[in-house]
Amino acid sequence: MQCWPYNYYEQWRENNIDSALLHEVDPVPPERLLQLIWLHQRLRRDGLTTTDGRAIRILHPGFWNHESGPDFKNAMIQFGNEMPQVGAVEIDLSQALWRAHGHEGNPSYRQVVLHVVWSGAISDPQRPTLILKPLLDAPLKELATWFAGEGLPKPTAIAGQCAAPLRDLGVASLNELLKQAGQVRLHRKGTQLQARAREAGWEQTLWEFTFAALGYKHNSWPMRRLAELTPWALAGSAHAVVLEARLLGLGNLLLREPKAESESDYLRCLWDAWWRDADAASASILPRESWCMAGLRPANQPARRLALGAGWLSGGKLMTQLENWLLSPISNSELVPSLEDVLAIPSHEFWNYHWTLRSQRFAVAQPLLGSARTTDLAMNIFLPWLWIRAVTGHNASMRRVAEERYFSWPHGQDNSMLKLARQRMTGQTSSKVFKTAAAQQALLQITRDFCDHSNALCENCRFPDMVKSWQVQFSR
Ligand code: SF4
Repeated sequence: MQCWPYNYYEQWRENNIDSALLHEVDPVPPERLLQLIWLHQRLRRDGLTTTDGRAIRILHPGFWNHESGPDFKNAMIQFGNEMPQVGAVEIDLSQALWRAHGHEGNPSYRQVVLHVVWSGAISDPQRPTLILKPLLDAPLKELATWFAGEGLPKPTAIAGQCAAPLRDLGVASLNELLKQAGQVRLHRKGTQLQARAREAGWEQTLWEFTFAALGYKHNSWPMRRLAELTPWALAGSAHAVVLEARLLGLGNLLLREPKAESESDYLRCLWDAWWRDADAASASILPRESWCMAGLRPANQPARRLALGAGWLSGGKLMTQLENWLLSPISNSELVPSLEDVLAIPSHEFWNYHWTLRSQRFAVAQPLLGSARTTDLAMNIFLPWLWIRAVTGHNASMRRVAEERYFSWPHGQDNSMLKLARQRMTGQTSSKVFKTAAAQQALLQITRDFCDHSNALCENCRFPDMVKSWQVQFSR
């Protein structure tokens, strides 16, 4: 049950968008909802078993396929202690639909390594099957509401039909609309964290989502998997080098044992720490293919991000430091630097001077986390996490401060998705109106809720109607 008051945007969103998802969940949910649940892994991911009793771990849910063929491609699944398999995942309401849809003789479906069905499946000797219904991390109706804004991106660069009514809103009215859409985004992120925390606890949830965010777009799943393994990585030692060696070893990022004289002492030091654990951890080591390194910016190299994560884990105080940071009075201009101080780890002799384990040493030290990433972490993980903890603990003052910081945070880095959204909704790419990170979040939420369900011509989009009704509501 929601424990904060609905705002106008939230009410309108629930009453008007994607009624298929919101209202067709009973008695059987639409297949797209099941696909969204799988994509976002809104499951109790611990202790999953197939209908034939095999334990499985989802190392990566795969990429949603909107063409013909299985629903998700290139998923990475580990059965028991076997080597992880890369393959497709097909999602169906029932096991019988495999035959009914003609997948049996279709060569595109030969690569399916897991059949995910809503309910009622039995052991199938042909392919492993997972039943979704008992695994959801929140009630189906709640998930349908959470997902109501998800859809397929439709790139276009022309001004949308909402541009004119948005232009007609006064500044105060537009800011209020953006505030409410930003609030919805905060609530969605908070409820996702809360759902995981019910299973894993608040601290473990913080690690999992923080690591996933450090993986950025391409490597969020392997990073999240490593965060799930942090209890093992922390066993017996919290020394930063040991933790780093274990995370890099589990991530299969240590490459090979260094032999050449010229190779870094630091790499040898990591190997010396890792080789003792390697056998015991062998069933959990990620395949190299789980990482996507193509086109990665140097600062986003996973090994460097993991070193930062190891530094936080070794310090053992991140959760308390974040709570103390929320309780300290901080001016708006100090929000980013103060969080950077909380997230700073002691200077790192290797990673402050290298992008990767093999790269040349820089002349000048580079920070392990820049201010743009700090803002991403604040808006997507830390503030929603602090906020939902305050909501859950009925701590009104912490909740108020978390909200104030969320709405005061200076805007983050611009990107092509934000530019496109601005172009469509305002008819121009200027970022003048979107001065805060919360306004950027609002823009993304509106895109999810409306643009992603329409097309380049804005056909059947309800947002222009909503903006008009908003005008009436706020001119009273
Ligand atoms: S699809 Fe809707 S929200 Fe998106 S630009 Fe068009 S009218 Fe605006």
